[in-house]
Amino acid sequence: MVGSLASPTSARTGPPVATFDVVIVGAGAAGLYCAALAGQRGKRVLLLDHWPKVAEKIRISGGGRCNFTNTQTRPEHFLSDNPHFCKSALSRHTPRDIIALLQKHRIGFHEKHRGQLFCDDSAEQLIAALLAECAAGGVSHWQPCPVEAVEACAPGGFRLHTARGTVQGEALVIATGGLSIPQIGATPWGYQVAAQFGIPVVPPRPALVPLAFDPAQWAPFADLSGVSMAVDIQTEAGRGSMRFHEDLLFTHRGLSGPAILQISSYWQPGHPLHIDLLGGLTLAQWLQSKQGNRRTLAGELAQHMPQRLAQTLAAQTQAADQRMADFSDAALRSLWQQWHDWTVLPSGTLGWRKAEVTAGGVDTRALSSTTMMARAVPGLYFIGEVVDVTGWLGGYNFQWAWSSAAACALAL
Ligand SMILES: Cc1cc2nc3c(=O)[nH]c(=O)nc-3n(C[C@H](O)[C@H](O)[C@H](O)COP(=O)(O)OP(=O)(O)OC[C@H]3O[C@@H](n4cnc5c(N)ncnc54)[C@H](O)[C@@H]3O)c2cc1C
Repeated sequence: MVGSLASPTSARTGPPVATFDVVIVGAGAAGLYCAALAGQRGKRVLLLDHWPKVAEKIRISGGGRCNFTNTQTRPEHFLSDNPHFCKSALSRHTPRDIIALLQKHRIGFHEKHRGQLFCDDSAEQLIAALLAECAAGGVSHWQPCPVEAVEACAPGGFRLHTARGTVQGEALVIATGGLSIPQIGATPWGYQVAAQFGIPVVPPRPALVPLAFDPAQWAPFADLSGVSMAVDIQTEAGRGSMRFHEDLLFTHRGLSGPAILQISSYWQPGHPLHIDLLGGLTLAQWLQSKQGNRRTLAGELAQHMPQRLAQTLAAQTQAADQRMADFSDAALRSLWQQWHDWTVLPSGTLGWRKAEVTAGGVDTRALSSTTMMARAVPGLYFIGEVVDVTGWLGGYNFQWAWSSAAACALAL
């Protein structure tokens, strides 16, 4: 035996209580899907999870209705240190495949926005379908069942020391997800297994996460909590300049909403964000609107954004009640610049407890993009969110879970 997550003395000895073709750790979206597909291909599969309830993230996703895929899925909708990695799996197992599963189980679904597909009734239906598919594949499912240690066997295979005894598998699939929402079972276990076998991990960071601001600097905006509007938002530097057109939401501590969740995955600490609060209004249109305009600055701004925000921004100019017609062109030009390119410097994210996903993870350069197997460790696979592939908001992360799981299951 080589390598162990626990100290050698804690590893149990003696023959395994059971042997399987495949042991999958993590009964979330990727683990369940992989187990079902592998089981139905004739593999003897054991699926393990340490948490009392199965697939908690499917259950809470999409407000309880699970945005299970996006029909517009393309590799550009994913972040990774190696942006080409996701292409193969995504092209071989597409949104059509998971849609077929829902149709097979008569689960109603609908498109909400830009290709985002949600269950009509409840995410529980999707969990039930995945469990039924596992049962159809004869999958053994032990949950809750913590894994105490993992060892590689010579000449091949893996031995796992679990709370229910020692098991052995020819292949080991790590589907333990990322670090977000530790309160429902997320752990760094998958990264620790990677490290144990010498596989590099791109440092994990919270993504699809609200952003916080210095309380003193944010004080003028704290009362705007609940105000929402569509904006263009852009990063400055770092991982390439990214731009989204989505809804922005003001909160007590900072900013949230789809615009912020999307841009947060690309945001780098210390760098500002640029937000167009004027809805694409050009400088020429803004200057022209001055002609004979008896509205106050606050009143005119409210034509382009929610009234509470308009009042707050106008109040900062000390000229909120001045009529538009009375402003000089130079003054209006300066105000337009300020709000067309509202530049804000977040102090940080709201962290793992609020992040929808984890960016970073098992370094894809160490994995085969067709099978998800670690190049240097035959029989060891990583699928789903534990891998350094992170989708945009909108069903892309579940699509990665399904596609990477299928790529692995076909190779087992
Ligand atoms: C609030 C919220 C809403 C979301 N909504 C959406 C959405 O609508 N659409 C979308 O595409 N994505 C959404 N996501 C992201 C999506 O849920 C994840 O990307 C997806 O669940 C990842 O699947 P996974 O199987 O890789 O990991 P997970 O679903 O996280 O499953 C990992 C499993 O591993 C288990 N595990 C962890 N550590 C251990 C251990 N040490 N031993 C044994 N088992 C372990 C966990 O208990 C868990 O069951 C949302 C995420 C959150 C937090």
